[in-house]
Amino acid sequence: MADCLFCRIVAGEIPATIVKRSDEAIAFRDIDARAPAHVLVIPTEHVAAVRDARGAEGERLLGMLLRFAAEVATELGLDSAGYRIVTNTGKDAGQSVDHLHFHVLGGRKLTWPPG
Ligand code: AMP
Repeated sequence: MADCLFCRIVAGEIPATIVKRSDEAIAFRDIDARAPAHVLVIPTEHVAAVRDARGAEGERLLGMLLRFAAEVATELGLDSAGYRIVTNTGKDAGQSVDHLHFHVLGGRKLTWPPG
């Protein structure tokens, strides 16, 4: 989508610190990191949010992204201490970019529940 920030990162039009890439997903450092490790995992195809990943293809996409996020966490060295994977959906959750993304957060003790 031409006016989507994360589609523009996928296209290389906006710079990002990419930490992992496949044909279907990329992971890059969050520009406003809330933890020592804070990476976003997104599909290369535009999907607005987790609620829009429907049916068999949505199920496959979400499974792939979650596995990809777990591999990112492993590669960031977070397995033994632990980490959090979270996705915000819609206004009340504070979703600010309408392109599906999983936050991978780690490197410090994380509080629960999130605010
Ligand atoms: P959310 O608020 O859950 O929609 O998450 C969107 C995230 O995208 C926020 O944590 C932002 O800091 C992050 N973000 C916004 N613009 C950029 C960018 N150009 N590069 C990397 N991360 C970004």
